[in-house]
Amino acid sequence: MLLRILLLLGCLTLAVLGAEDFYKLLGLQKDASEREIKKAYRQLSKKYHPDKNPGDDSAHDKFVAIAEAYDILIDEETRRIYDQYGHEGIQQHKQGGGPRQHHDPFDLFRSFFGGTGHFGHGGGERRGPNMEVRVAVPLRDFYNGRKTEFTVEKQAICSSCEGSGSADGHVETCDLCGGRGVRIVRQQLAPGLFQQVQTHCEKCGGKGKMIKHPCPVCGGSRVVREPETHELHIEKGMPQGVRITYENEADESPDWVAGDLIVHLVETEPRLGQEDHERTDGTFFRRRGKDLFWREVLSLREAWMGDWRRNITHLDGHIVQLSRKRGEVVQPNHVEVIENEGMPVWHQLLENNAEEQYGALHVEYVVVLPDQMEKSMEKDFWNMWEKYRKKSGVVLDKEWGRPEGPIKMPEHDEL
Ligand SMILES: [Zn+2]
Ligand SMILES: [Zn+2]
Repeated sequence: MLLRILLLLGCLTLAVLGAEDFYKLLGLQKDASEREIKKAYRQLSKKYHPDKNPGDDSAHDKFVAIAEAYDILIDEETRRIYDQYGHEGIQQHKQGGGPRQHHDPFDLFRSFFGGTGHFGHGGGERRGPNMEVRVAVPLRDFYNGRKTEFTVEKQAICSSCEGSGSADGHVETCDLCGGRGVRIVRQQLAPGLFQQVQTHCEKCGGKGKMIKHPCPVCGGSRVVREPETHELHIEKGMPQGVRITYENEADESPDWVAGDLIVHLVETEPRLGQEDHERTDGTFFRRRGKDLFWREVLSLREAWMGDWRRNITHLDGHIVQLSRKRGEVVQPNHVEVIENEGMPVWHQLLENNAEEQYGALHVEYVVVLPDQMEKSMEKDFWNMWEKYRKKSGVVLDKEWGRPEGPIKMPEHDEL
């Protein structure tokens, strides 16, 4: 007897151990919000959908398991039972005829992405239009890489009625048109002469279906407009305007599988922010491909006499130091190219297994002359110039052989 009990206990433990934890399955913490549960389902169900993994039984099993985990966790009552009693509690609840109807995994998928619960790539499945949005981020994020979020408003399948449009789930086929949405009517053209014409069914408005009690959330339209937040992973060195595709995240409709959401990642206009990291010189670098451009202002004294130093703060906060020793002249508009201080090269543009690479920083020097001077200073400079002008000054006009007056052009015969 004891042995039988032990054996029985052993079997029970095995059965419970055999089922994977629902939270783990969806990659969630125990305190996950409803939004997080939905998001996890959206991501995983696309990944393991059998249409995407043909012939892979383990993917199919996972797809089914994910749907089950979602169903249990999204419902407050079953989630509470699961949290307290685990898989066993859910089993008992099911046997006790729990009120909740469980989804077919493909029905569940359809209630998220529309269509027939299958993917739209080929196979004759109707596919909704793609949606394109621009997301602008500062140059800093292209340089450092960053994980962030953005929100778009889109048409979503009403989750209250799961896209049926009906408050009680009952959708009836229109009895007038038999669900076709159109009717053939006979029109009398002349006595004894009839013509058959196809018209829109007026009873169901051409839908072929009728709902007695429309869903209070969507008013029977089966869809709602709502904001949706997506994660955005900006990779170091991504090119300006790069397209990032979010599969099946465009407008949803029960009539088709949602198209793709395509994000164009662009650069915001640089502007001075409040925080230190938003005020670095790098904020105002200009980018062209993998190179960066910057203008540095020098005074006349610095440009001419040398002996100066500048710290430029780069986009990640490190310092690029520029300097000249005494006697090193910088000509106006001179461009100094500093290797490896440009943008990181996006990994997709690197050769296989290549190490991190960076473009160059191009520093253009702008020389600013003083337009005001102290009287005494002006006098000093003037006198000094006069001294050296008399000694070794040249008049460039003469040096270059320029004429003193206008030149008369030779006359040509008119053609
Ligand atoms: Zn009808
Ligand atoms: Zn609804």
